Amino acid sequence: MQQSSGLGFAPSTKESALVDNREHVCTPEDCPPCGGYYVSCVDDNGNVFLMAGPYRTHGAALADENRACKIASDADGRAWFMAWGTSRVREDAGELKAGVLNRHKLI
Ligand SMILES: [Zn+2]
Repeated sequence: MQQSSGLGFAPSTKESALVDNREHVCTPEDCPPCGGYYVSCVDDNGNVFLMAGPYRTHGAALADENRACKIASDADGRAWFMAWGTSRVREDAGELKAGVLNRHKLI
């Protein structure tokens, strides 16, 4: 069912708004399966939060992105308005920390 919020956004359903249409194909060159991948979000001030992870592959992090966003938004509504994506921590960054949601045992 098409819904209009009255805010002038293109009409859509909440379900279709949550569909991720970004094209990304992981390749061994761009996304080596060497670990250190996280679901991350960025707030208005540019602060980056590593929310879930670490994952061994980029694909695994991508697969959990929407779920992590929903879980975080349920815990703190501000999460919904952050920019969500995936990040990889450099190999020389030292020990990989558990993501925020992992530390809170939410994911
Ligand atoms: Zn990838």
